[in-house]
Amino acid sequence: MRNGKPGFEPRPESSTSPCNSALRIPHSAFAWPALLALVVTCVPPGVEQWPVHSTDRPRPPVVDPGPERPPEPPPADAIVLFDGTDLSQWQSQDGTPARWVVRDGYTQVVPGTGAIVSKRGFGDVQLHVEWATPAPPKGEGQERGNSGVFLMGLYEIQVLDSYNNDTYADGQAAAVYGQAPPLVNASRPPGRWQTYDIVFHRPRFAPNGSVRDSARITVLHNGVLVQDNTVITGGTVHARRAHYEPHPDRLPLMLQDHGNPVRYREIWIRELPQ
Ligand code: MG
Repeated sequence: MRNGKPGFEPRPESSTSPCNSALRIPHSAFAWPALLALVVTCVPPGVEQWPVHSTDRPRPPVVDPGPERPPEPPPADAIVLFDGTDLSQWQSQDGTPARWVVRDGYTQVVPGTGAIVSKRGFGDVQLHVEWATPAPPKGEGQERGNSGVFLMGLYEIQVLDSYNNDTYADGQAAAVYGQAPPLVNASRPPGRWQTYDIVFHRPRFAPNGSVRDSARITVLHNGVLVQDNTVITGGTVHARRAHYEPHPDRLPLMLQDHGNPVRYREIWIRELPQ
């Protein structure tokens, strides 16, 4: 389900879906077992039916978010994770010092050095991140300005140069990667600073490890609403359906090294009541 609004997404399978054909009255008694099987396996209304990374999935409309703005300073109760001067709040995934370069008020991915993760763990948060993809742009599709903001190190909001750069809808900038395209494409051109303002509620697991509440995420991209309380269906994976694995209530924030020299500045986070 997307945004709790059944029917929000067009469903390309609907014209050929067995769910549709199941609605017809079978002509023979032999058809009834097949009908029952179809009813049982049909996806309920509102549940996402596009294949993961489908290139047929419509691209969101483009919205010009206006010109880039100066860095947005943190509110008083925010935890500043990066203020442009050092990566003291970050480390590599293996616990060694973060190896991304810091200069001129930003940090930049050094391809091949790996992701960086916050030293602190977080659960429910409000997060502000500013980023810029390389200019002039290099590469196409997923290879152009790819990085990512991984809430709890698991749930990716895609960072990508999606300015005149086509890719599958669930993999463009501000997508919940592999799950939910943004409502609109509010990308600025490469080299310009862009913002993500994110409200994230972590998943809740029952003592037996089953999912009690899925994670939810709201994202503003350059001030434009692009994810509206979107249900996250599981940890980010490539080219597969996501699913949940139980995990702790707090985990580090992660920024992805996808081999492209993407820049970040002004990263702050506010912990929300759990
Ligand atoms: Mg990415």
